[in-house]
Amino acid sequence: MSKYSPIIGLEIHVQLDTKTKLFCSCNNESFGAEPNTNICPLCSGQPGTLPVMNKQAVNFAIKAGLAMNCEINKHTKWDRKSYFYPDLPKGYQISQYDQPIDMGGYIEIFLENEKKELVSKKIRLERAHLEEDAGKSIHDKSIEYTFLDYNRCGTPLLEIVSKPDMFSAVEAELYAREIRRRMRYVEVSRCDMEKGHMRFDINVNLKVEKDDGEIAFTPIAEVKNLNSFKSLVKAIEYEIERQKNEFEETGIVKNDGNKTTRLWNDNRGATAQMRTKEEAADYRYFPDPDIMPVIISDEWIKEIQETLPEMPSVRFNRYLNLGLSKTVSYYVVDNISLANYLDDCLKLIGDKQELQKEFLNWFGRDLFSQMNQTTNSDDTNISIKITKEDFVGLIELIINKKITRNLAKEFLVDMWDNGKTLNELKASIPNESINIDEVINKVISSNQNMLEQWKNGNEKVFNVFVGLTMKETKGLVDPQEIQAKLKEILKK
Ligand code: ZN
Ligand code: MN
Repeated sequence: MSKYSPIIGLEIHVQLDTKTKLFCSCNNESFGAEPNTNICPLCSGQPGTLPVMNKQAVNFAIKAGLAMNCEINKHTKWDRKSYFYPDLPKGYQISQYDQPIDMGGYIEIFLENEKKELVSKKIRLERAHLEEDAGKSIHDKSIEYTFLDYNRCGTPLLEIVSKPDMFSAVEAELYAREIRRRMRYVEVSRCDMEKGHMRFDINVNLKVEKDDGEIAFTPIAEVKNLNSFKSLVKAIEYEIERQKNEFEETGIVKNDGNKTTRLWNDNRGATAQMRTKEEAADYRYFPDPDIMPVIISDEWIKEIQETLPEMPSVRFNRYLNLGLSKTVSYYVVDNISLANYLDDCLKLIGDKQELQKEFLNWFGRDLFSQMNQTTNSDDTNISIKITKEDFVGLIELIINKKITRNLAKEFLVDMWDNGKTLNELKASIPNESINIDEVINKVISSNQNMLEQWKNGNEKVFNVFVGLTMKETKGLVDPQEIQAKLKEILKK
């Protein structure tokens, strides 16, 4: 049997969240707009128009590059990538060929080994460059015609190209998710998958080790325009199988060095041959004479560097070290609003160790399960329905033995579901201290028949007494304390 190892590289197009398009002043957001209502002579490719570079897009490309540990090119220019397609009215796309803004770089992903331990792996980047998006061809409105919507023309994209450093669909998904997190952390893109803010192209082939030790490679297949994590994973898995089967059937590797482009069909769950990829020369890249190169100074880079937040993988490690579980830590770093909430709470707690420990238990277990009931992890913004002051205050009440954990749980649900504030709930705690002995004696004396049963050896009665006492004390006394006291009293 031959041995197969997949080799996977990703190109990710991320739509930058600028106010206007890349080279004109049209609104950048045209999602849901009537076709061809968000265009101007420039982005619809009229002759005689001249592009003007959007500085915010360059800022965002630098910021994204720094977030991915790239080197920023000091001298960066714009090139025309020529090809004919009806949704590209100029007949060329303005992109960056040999001097992209971001060079090299890497990001970190976390994988589980056989012992279920997390190990980090670096995925290297080739580059990331700025370019404009094309329009959309609409084929499903009519049998006779294709309609064209140019609203998307000129939307700024950052194309992030990885090295072929991923060896499974799992690794590719982790990589893509970490890219999304970073783009969201540095606020250059909302990365809304449903709105097409993030699209994946995959490059997959197999290293084949034959029985006789010979090593061969299957031809690289490129699958374009995958727009969900699900189809990313499925398309990679499909390609691995397809290439493996093709090799098993023929026993030869038909590799002429050319990439083939395949199309993913979500309904069929399969890829189909589209065309043999044009070589780079086919695009006739040449510097765009209409736009000046951009010189990026050290000061410019430094200024942006200073605005970078802590990166998700660093944050993830920090949360693990605090004692939060892998699942919770992943969930939290995926949602920056939640991560910020957690950090704000930790700031309020300061160096109070006992409080921090109790707080993290409640955060990772109880608050987390409240959130899971009302939200899903792909939400961009999870709204936490309890203020950080109230949440930390609640945990302080437990630590100071003002309320039991059971009652705290009720308070938490009341705050989350009904929008109650901690102050409102505190008012319901009686002021006078409770005499447990008194309450237990009252419970026993008003249930004489149960006391008889207890004396006759029915041990189940014990828990009934505990329950009745808890009810009498309205959950304000810790159940363990009640059990201890009850044992003491029953012994007499
Ligand atoms: Zn325009
Ligand atoms: Mn591209």
